[in-house]
Amino acid sequence: MQEQQKITKIPFWRSLRLKFALSYVALIVAVLGLLNTYPIFVSQDMVFKAKLTSLQNQAAVIASTVASMEELTQEGVTQVMEVLDESSMNRILVADQNGLILYDSDSGQSERSDEPRYAMMQELVLALEGSDVFQSTYSAGAFRSSGAVPVQYRNATIGGVYLYEYDSEQGAIITGLQQNLMRISLLLLALALLISVFLSRTMTRPIIRLTAGISGLRQGEYSTRVEVSGRDELAMLATAFNDMTERLEKTDEMRRRFVSDASHELKTPLASIKLLTDSIAQNENMDSETIRDFVQDIGTEADRLVRITEKLLALTRMDNAPHGQAERSSVDLVNVISDALHMLTPLADQRNISIHLILAQNCRVMASADEMYQVVFNLVENAIKYNVNDGKIWIRVRRSADSAFLIVEDTGIGIPQEDRARIFERFYRVDKARSREAGGTGLGLSIVHDTVVANGGAIRVDARPEGGTVFIVQLPLAQEHKTEGESGT
Ligand code: ADP
Repeated sequence: MQEQQKITKIPFWRSLRLKFALSYVALIVAVLGLLNTYPIFVSQDMVFKAKLTSLQNQAAVIASTVASMEELTQEGVTQVMEVLDESSMNRILVADQNGLILYDSDSGQSERSDEPRYAMMQELVLALEGSDVFQSTYSAGAFRSSGAVPVQYRNATIGGVYLYEYDSEQGAIITGLQQNLMRISLLLLALALLISVFLSRTMTRPIIRLTAGISGLRQGEYSTRVEVSGRDELAMLATAFNDMTERLEKTDEMRRRFVSDASHELKTPLASIKLLTDSIAQNENMDSETIRDFVQDIGTEADRLVRITEKLLALTRMDNAPHGQAERSSVDLVNVISDALHMLTPLADQRNISIHLILAQNCRVMASADEMYQVVFNLVENAIKYNVNDGKIWIRVRRSADSAFLIVEDTGIGIPQEDRARIFERFYRVDKARSREAGGTGLGLSIVHDTVVANGGAIRVDARPEGGTVFIVQLPLAQEHKTEGESGT
């Protein structure tokens, strides 16, 4: 639990949540920054262009009107300027080629003062040298535009016109736009903050849950499941995690059951051996006949221990090499059956059980001969062990285009439907007492099942309608026989 807390409680400043939130906010701030500057630049640029065009036009009109006078005089220029309506300009100044001001619209200074004044404006000086000069700037909420053009008569500069305009109206529109954009941006930023907090929380919640789940898993809590809604990648990850924990839980459960069953199976014969040896040791007057009986019993229990450990070892070997690392060759099932029957016929004879063979010849599978022997031996041994006295067993070998079938059928006690699905589990026995009495370990069918599956085959169990059981094993035919087609039974 402590470990889990250590993993899930990350300080906020280091959390993925903060990183997500900051990324959103940084992105929004960048977008808003662009929104606040780009439209303003574009509008300013448009106004600048409009100002310069209008200034150029008006300066040209004044210059050409004044030029028509041939000689520039104060009276003449003032007269012309009164006729021209250039009220949109804040200041109009006309000077002769020496810079002497002939007309100045600003507060009637030209009328008040009799003293000659010379124009010092940079633009006008340049205009008197023959250049057109225009400029427009925007600051403190107003556009300041100024410009000057030469007055030319017969290709000679005889004076200059200077214009100045101060426009706070357009400036107010731009300032208004700026303020509105700022307000909208602040609103959007507040909204983005809220959304980023919500989104980062939604995105990191499944990660936090998964982390807690993994931490639980590390401590062996295989029942841990993570609940995540939605269908995104994180939901897929959570589903994969849940599948994994479910499998681990099953495997762990199987492992526990296996260990407990195995210990129990080993304990029973060991307890009998202990009891028998104690009896011999404590009973000084025991006759040799009884001692021999007891020692024989000890031998039987030891045999049982050997059988169990051998089968456990066989299963462990298969667990370690699930895809069958045993040496494989083309094995004829008929030969394997004949070897197994050599060992098992005496057992069948003891109870007068007849064995009938219906075998397709030369039916070869690609497998380990030892493993196939184990399969046939276990199935036929069971058919004898769980048969009735005077019962019958049929062993069939058939083949299809690409599979070999081994069918072992008996007239025995049968397996109830509800047990059929479980008999391939380790240590699972329908009737424990009968199995033990017959020397069973509960491991034979698991070995058969695992061997068949490891060799690419399948096994099925069915009830025989007339009573008894049928085991059907399907195995892939060895390569060289696949094309030969089906042959008789
Ligand atoms: P065991 O060593 O007990 O025979 P197996 O794994 O070979 O273990 O078989 C598991 C159980 O399946 C047996 O205990 C028995 O109850 C049942 N079983 C297996 N084969 C047959 C059969 N041919 N007829 C009836 N029951 C069978």
